[in-house]
Amino acid sequence: MSKIIVFSAPSGSGKSTIINWLMEHKELNLHFSVSATSRMPRGTEQNGVEYFFFTPDEFREHIEAGDFLEYEEVYPGRYYGTLSAEVDKQLEKGENVVIDMDVHGALNIKKYYGDRAMLVFVQPPSIEVLRQRLIDRGTEVMEMIEERVSRAEYELSFAPRFDKIIVNKNLDEAEKETLAIVKEFLDL
Ligand code: 5GP
Repeated sequence: MSKIIVFSAPSGSGKSTIINWLMEHKELNLHFSVSATSRMPRGTEQNGVEYFFFTPDEFREHIEAGDFLEYEEVYPGRYYGTLSAEVDKQLEKGENVVIDMDVHGALNIKKYYGDRAMLVFVQPPSIEVLRQRLIDRGTEVMEMIEERVSRAEYELSFAPRFDKIIVNKNLDEAEKETLAIVKEFLDL
């Protein structure tokens, strides 16, 4: 049976890098579930690739239509959600689905899918390292960085409720560790 792997992490923890690396392993038969968001695209982000970028009105319409498997207001006024159709379509095809979402969304997926889902938390070595990574990434103004840092502190408190925790101190090692737990979960 195809399975679901959910990754949560404070932004700047290296989660996206790890997910992208993992997706290159064709033998894992993974499909990345593209979420919807009401925030604006950042940098080179494209509609339908990193996210489906909806206007707040469009997002609300999808909520009302019951199209979301789960959705959260991750930051004030900024919504993120997983479309049921995105996940179901792939599971039916027999593909394993990878979802990147916040901690609340992840716990909801676990409630819904139980053992069919594995929750992985990618943890930065420290809050200071995380702040520096966000500054180095250079995609956001300082005020947004501080907002993300305080959100990170909150999200870190959820780590013990996840199935697996990957501490990203060294990217190479974190990637290898992730590959090992995913293979184990998929019985490969
Ligand atoms: P960012 O704006 O940096 O792309 O993402 C902000 C946060 O939204 C991250 O914690 C990310 O995991 C979360 N997020 C992305 N997609 C979803 C989703 O479909 N559902 C939920 N609950 N959170 C999401």
